[in-house]
Parts: sequence; C-alpha cells; structure tokens
Amino acid sequence: MGNYRIAVLPGDGIGKEVTKGAVEVLKAIETRFGHHFEFAYGWIGGAAVDQKGTPLPEETLALCRESDAVLLGAVGGPKWDQHPPHLRPERGLLQIRKEMNLFANLRPVKFYDSLTDSSPLKQEVIQGVDLVIVRELTGGLYFGKPSGRMVENGEEKAVDTLLYKKEEIKRIVKVAFELARKRKKKVTSVDKANVLSSSRMWREIAEEVAQEFPDVTLEHMLVDNAAMQLIRSPQQFDVVVTENMFGDILSDEASMLTGSLGMLPSASLSASGPSLYEPIHGSAPDIAGQNKANPIAAILSAAMMLRLSFGLSKEAEAVEKAVQQVLAAGLRTADIAQKGQRVVSTDEMVNEIKTAI
Ligand code: ATP
Ligand code: MG
Repeated sequence: MGNYRIAVLPGDGIGKEVTKGAVEVLKAIETRFGHHFEFAYGWIGGAAVDQKGTPLPEETLALCRESDAVLLGAVGGPKWDQHPPHLRPERGLLQIRKEMNLFANLRPVKFYDSLTDSSPLKQEVIQGVDLVIVRELTGGLYFGKPSGRMVENGEEKAVDTLLYKKEEIKRIVKVAFELARKRKKKVTSVDKANVLSSSRMWREIAEEVAQEFPDVTLEHMLVDNAAMQLIRSPQQFDVVVTENMFGDILSDEASMLTGSLGMLPSASLSASGPSLYEPIHGSAPDIAGQNKANPIAAILSAAMMLRLSFGLSKEAEAVEKAVQQVLAAGLRTADIAQKGQRVVSTDEMVNEIKTAI
C-alpha cells in the first residue's frame, strides 16, 4: 500500500473536464487497491494568467517539485490569443518542461479493435499496432546555440544548431531500451546518419547502450524511411527512439494511425524529479464546458503515471482493461462515435470506466 502525492494541473478548456475524470478514475484505483493518493491542485496556462498574472506561477512549480508526479490537462484558448508572448498559456507548458527537466516524451500509439473506423488507414494496416515513440524533448535543433537571424555583408541569414551531448543521447536511448525490455523487446533508433554528424554519434551511442540490453534487438532507420514505414507497415515497430525534431514530426504522424486525439496519452519523464503526464490533445475550445470531451486520453495518461512513476503495473493494467472493456461494450464519446451509435458525455464515460475498475 503506497502513499503518493499527485500534482494536478487542470489548465484550460477541456483540460479541466478530462483531468477531473482522470482523478476520479485514480480514486477508484485507490479504493480497489488500497493505496493513498493525495491530490494537490495548481494553476497553469490561461487560468493561471487570470488568477496569478503569469502562465506558470512559482507556487505551481514548487507544488510540482514536491509531488511524486504531475497530471496535466491542457492549456490555451481564444481568450488569451491576443496576450503578449510572456502571458500566453502555451508559455507555461514550455517553461514547466524546461524547469522540471522533462527530457523524455513517450507517446504510445495503440490499436483498439472497436475503433477501426476512426483511422484514415485501412484496417489491415493498423490491425495490432502497438508502438511507443520516445522523443528527446530538451535538446537538439530546438535548443542548440547559435540560433537566430543575422545580416552579414548585407546578406540576410538564419541559423539553428542541432547539438547533442553524449550524455543527453545516452539517457534517452536508455529510456527506450528499458521500455522495450518490458514490451516486445525491439528498439528502432531513428536518425539521419547518412547526412548528419549528430546522427552518426547518436547511432554509435545507441550501439553502446545496446550492449547493456542483450535481450533487446536494436535496429537503425533513417528518418525519411521511418516516416514512410509508419504508414506502410506500422506493426513492425515496438519502441521508436529519436531526437527532438524528428520525434516531433513522427509522433504527430503516428498519432493519426489510430484516429482520435481524444484517445492518446503521453508521459514526459524527468531527469531529476517528478515526471509529467498529459493527454496529447489541446484544450479544444470548440467543445469546452459542454461535457462532451473524450476523457480516455487523460485517463490513459494517469495509467502511465501509475506504471512509470509509481511502479504500479497491476493498477495501470486495471485502468487500461477498464477502458478496453467500455469501448468493447460500445460506449462512445462524440469524437469516436460512428453514425447511429449512441453518444455518451464525458461524465458518463468516466463513470462507466470507474464501474469497470
Ligand atoms: P493545441 O494547440 O492546444 O494543441 P489544437 O489546435 O491542436 O490545440 P485541440 O485542442 O487538440 O487542437 O483540438 C483539435 C480538435 O480535436 C478539436 O476540434 C477538438 O474538439 C478535438 N478534440 C481534441 N481533444 C478532444 C477530446 N479529448 N475529445 C473530443 N474531441 C477532442
Ligand atoms: Mg495541437
């Protein structure tokens, strides 16, 4: 029986609705398995701008650092679109990633038998897809210096730098191997080693780390080929690990394999403290406040928290099984409903999942 403190940052729009659902599901797990979860709430995003005058208040950051894990909803909305850059909700999200050293972004993409029609791809292509993209989140092209624009000899130029330190590559590749060890034991390391020095170093380090994991198979794939293979035969992948920008692009591509944004969770693991869990979707202003949002992405994010931050695999499985069960029973929020299917609200979906647990 464990005691865990969870920082809950609902944020804006449907973020508030779906985190409420995820917290209720965690409470059901608490009851069934006899753990104690303490939920501590903090402001982030537009809500924090309104309440505290900044998208990431110091007290929110302190609360997160004192917790065992962070559960986040989503930030943003039209209300704050005209604000200056330092008062934009999204700024809060970038800051928290940086401040908490969240270097590894994990996005599982899983096929659900009952939802085949929500993918733009043919069923035989996506059948059985169960992969995780592990994206490096705090280095590479998005952070390397020099970066910026300049005029030299009257010529306008712009530069970005793809820079990695050996240790930064090592730690992200290790995350991928450790994950693969608990799954189908295959790591695909994606790079552009035919062109980029950083990729050649990445490849060497991946080989080095692989020595520590003799039970896991390592393959290398060029990023252009990986983009193609994800659509051609996504079943071949287990764990895909790659640098920041490649991962940014491939994880969005992969998320479309199974269709709805409302189904897909994510984890951002920290190098130095608590990790953060959030659905990959945004605040969805178009449906906010209507009790319509699909809470499953947030609920599956909570399951990832149970497994990865607390080591509670059985509990995580109980959540995932409950989700599968209600989907198999035909329960659908609007985003995943086909013509003629009965549509349930956020609250109804949450209640059914709780009951299944
Ligand atoms: P952001 O910039 O914050 O990522 P976005 O423009 O990518 O936002 P989302 O907020 O993710 O957009 O929403 C995109 C579309 O998907 C919207 O039409 C929204 O209603 C829908 N959507 C997103 N999440 C969900 C959900 N959990 N349930 C139902 N529909 C959703
Ligand atoms: Mg988006």
